[in-house]
Parts: sequence; structure tokens; C-alpha cells
Amino acid sequence: MLRPLLPGLSSCLLAGLSIGLPPAAAAQDMGRARATITTLAGPAMHGRGYVNKGADEAADYIRRRFRELGLRSFTPKYAQFFPVTINTFPRACELLVDGKPLQPGLDYILEPASGPGRLTGPVVVLDTLIFTNEAAGQHFLGQSLQGRVLVMRQRDADRIRTLPNIFAEHLNKAAALITLVPDKLTASLANRQEAQPRLQVLASRWPLSSQQATLRVDARLAAGYRAQNIIGYVPGRIQPDSFLVVSAHYDHLGRMGKATYFPGANDNASGTALLLELADYYAKPDNQPAYSVVFMAFGAEEAGLLGSSYFVQHPLFPLARIHFLVNLDLEGTGQDGITVVNGRTLEKPFRQLEQLNTKHKYVTAIAARGRAANSDHYPFSEQGVPAFFFYTRGSSKAYHDVHDVAEGLPLTAFAGVFQLVIDFFGSITK
Ligand SMILES: [Zn+2]
Repeated sequence: MLRPLLPGLSSCLLAGLSIGLPPAAAAQDMGRARATITTLAGPAMHGRGYVNKGADEAADYIRRRFRELGLRSFTPKYAQFFPVTINTFPRACELLVDGKPLQPGLDYILEPASGPGRLTGPVVVLDTLIFTNEAAGQHFLGQSLQGRVLVMRQRDADRIRTLPNIFAEHLNKAAALITLVPDKLTASLANRQEAQPRLQVLASRWPLSSQQATLRVDARLAAGYRAQNIIGYVPGRIQPDSFLVVSAHYDHLGRMGKATYFPGANDNASGTALLLELADYYAKPDNQPAYSVVFMAFGAEEAGLLGSSYFVQHPLFPLARIHFLVNLDLEGTGQDGITVVNGRTLEKPFRQLEQLNTKHKYVTAIAARGRAANSDHYPFSEQGVPAFFFYTRGSSKAYHDVHDVAEGLPLTAFAGVFQLVIDFFGSITK
């Protein structure tokens, strides 16, 4: 799932939905689903990013699974390639404060646009009087930051934008920038690179009396990385040129240096595993659907919905032939039920979901929300394709950090969402 969120807007209603079919006879294989998540979130996939070809390893894995299921392909090897420019952290990632190392991933992370750098420098703490006192502001602007490691609180880093530009420009002269965050570290990706190392450090791990910091950060801006969507389908029995789509992004945030990677078990090995279980269901001759069902495993979602955006700009069949798309991202919890993005804008299909769930009690609760640019459904719904994004809600606080691991992921709503998608697709007629 992508970090930025947009509030609700548009409405595009589906033409009539009929009453639900009986629940599907086949079931997902929870053991296999867990194994899929463990594999995708494992160290051999390097966080499914752009260091050590982690994303390509994951793509190859999905391709193999599609082939085993005998899915059809629109393209050679199920692949749709597209270029991505992304800032990566392939090797060194070290921070020492007064000679003592902090732990990457646990104590600190790199900001997405961090530049490279190797330095030891004195620590300078941002004087918060600059926001209220003009003399303090002038003093700050007159102070040389060259060779220094500037430390500031998150809220002050945000407040800098309220000051004249000259303050931000002055900050950028520091040899390194460290932001102290209060609660949790949340990583993401950038398609650009700043001039110096930039780190987020958990405030509780930063020694207040620190004098000196040493940083060793390798950062490389990978331009034109060949990312890929993996897309297969089961042809429809009655109307093969009409499509229902299941989508899930398989990429995640990759590595942060040699020692650390982001496993992305919930985000989104879980949704990928669910997509593969649904592919397994529809690939069985007994379950061949009336419409073609397409399985889109998107790349580069975490880089800004790039794979799904590329698809809508270069569709492999007319987007107008998609009767519905269900996007699966963050399917690893569900104690509190699921949320349906676009549930508020697509009222009729949402009511259908509610009815199916009331009847069969697949998940504990279904909440609707409006439009949101937070996962791969969004480029489709912006093109007028009816699309829902289902995500599970539950106890896990791990999100875009090293704690999003396969072990202990509850998968409470996994089986319920599986059945709900099948029933919902079964209920869709023209
Ligand atoms: Zn994400």
C-alpha cells in the first residue's frame, strides 16, 4: 500500500448486479498461502525492490506459479515491462553516535531520497527559537553547517516549510540531516536523490547529549530500471471478451544496505498470495468463469502506483471491457474486518458485498470509504473502471518497516476475502 491518501470524490455506478450465487465449493489452501507469503517475504527476495533484483525474483516466482496453473498470457512470459527511476541503498548503511552504532531498521532508516555520504561530523541540534525569534533565525542563517550533522525533531522539520525558503536552503548545506521521529519508522521510496545522507531516527534511541555522528551511506539512483507487471488470465466460458480483474502488487521497499531489508509480508505478500489462491480456484475446469478473469500482479506500486498506471496507459485489452476490478493489498490481518475503498462511490456493488457477507459471515465487518489514491485500484477507477480495493483491518502496527514479517501474521480474514471475491464476481452480470 502506498502512503499518500486522497479524500473521496467521483462516482461511477455499475449497471445491474444480480443476486449472489451459492458459495463456492472449493477453498483456498491456507498452508500454501502461508508458504507463499513466507517465500515472498523471505531474505532471498530482498524486500522485492530494486537492489539485488529482488522485485525480479518475486516476478519470476509469480510467473512460475502462473505457468503451473496453466494461466493464459496476453504477452510473452506474462510480462509487461516498464521503466522506473528509483533511489536505492545497495551497500553501506551505518550510523554511529559518539562511536556507538545504532541498528539499521530498528533504530533508524534512510529517508527515501537520501543521498550517499561518508563522514564524521559534530552534531548540531536545530534551535527551535528560529520559528519565533528573529534574532535566533538570523543567528541560524549565519552559522556554517558545512561538515555538520544537523538534528531536528519531525515537527520542526515540517515547520521549516512555514519559514522563508532561505531556511530550507540553509539546512541543505549540512553534511547530513537527521530527523527524530516520535513513534515509528515508516519507510518509502523516491525517484530522486538529495545531496546528502538523510535519516529518520527513533527519538527514543537518539542520545540527547550526543556530540558527534559518523555516517556511511551508499545511495544509488537507478534510472530506467526495467520493472514488470505479471499478468495472466483464465478465459471466460460464455463471454471471454468481458473481464473481471483481481489485482495485487507484489513489489515492496527492497533493501536498506547489506544487513536490512523490508519483508513486506502484509504489504503485500499477503495480497499476492490471495491473488494466487484465486488464480488456482478459477484455473480448475469446474470453476471456469462466465467472463474471463485476469490476474494482475503489479510491480512498482510502492514507487507511486507505477505498474498499474502503466497498464491503464498501455492496456492489453480495452479497459471498457472490465466489468469489475478487485484490488488486494494488506490482506494479512482482519480481526476488525475489511475496508472497501470506493465502497462509498459504488453504492450498489457495495450493497451487494454487504448482502453476501450478511448471508455467509465471511468477514466480521465491512466498512466503506470513498476514493483514495492508496493502491493499484486507483489508476483504474480514475479511468472509469468500476474498482474496489479491499484491505484487512486488525491489530498489526507493522507498516513499511522491518517488523512486517510473515511469522505471526494472523490472516484472520484471508479465507473470508477469498470467498467474498468469488461470490462477488459470481454475482456480476452485465
Ligand atoms: Zn505499501
